[in-house]
Amino acid sequence: MRKRRLCADQEDADQSLVKRQSLSTKPTSAFVLNPNFKAAHQLHNWCIQNEEVIRTLPSPLETHVRNITTPSPKVDKIISINSIPSSPDAKMYWVKATMSITSLDQSFWYMSCNNCYKSINAKYQTVFNCFHCKKKEVIAEPRVKFQVELKDNSGSIMATIFQDHAEKFFSISSTDLMKHTTQDGKVSNDALPKLNVPEYHIIQLKPRQYRFHWTSNASTCHHISEQ
Ligand SMILES: [Zn+2]
Repeated sequence: MRKRRLCADQEDADQSLVKRQSLSTKPTSAFVLNPNFKAAHQLHNWCIQNEEVIRTLPSPLETHVRNITTPSPKVDKIISINSIPSSPDAKMYWVKATMSITSLDQSFWYMSCNNCYKSINAKYQTVFNCFHCKKKEVIAEPRVKFQVELKDNSGSIMATIFQDHAEKFFSISSTDLMKHTTQDGKVSNDALPKLNVPEYHIIQLKPRQYRFHWTSNASTCHHISEQ
């Protein structure tokens, strides 16, 4: 693929904004920081002059959070909570439900490998070789995980909600939770997530893969769609 040069002048820079072009890298790509040539100086000056505009652009995090929602399924795919089978089943189910935290006696987050998200025993931002995914030099990062009760007119079911959905719908961040966790593993009251999401959301439940048993609280909120 032909590579586009990095905004050689003001006009190019404007165009790249309008066309929403982005740069990508290959494993062999290298970055040069603060390169000393004319086009780079022009781009640097342009960024300084347009600082306010650049600040209004969505951050990569915001874009990521927006992208976690999926289109709603067809109405006939949504079932009532009481019709979710209680026997082992590999299917995913869509329900339309409210969400709430019914127990504060849970840890709300865990330290994880930033590649495979498996739980690990390491301090925040420790670089290590993960024995789960075998990737080298991964970083220990907190990840949100807690139990929520999903409720509709037919009944309720417990499910686990993870990182992106939890942060978005319960207005918290994994690092805030971690910073406000006491020695005994409790999150201090003023840093708790909000307890209720009273609006109805269409939620896809994915049964967790337990080898020997499957219980009604072993589901994960896999996708949550905007109404
Ligand atoms: Zn890993």
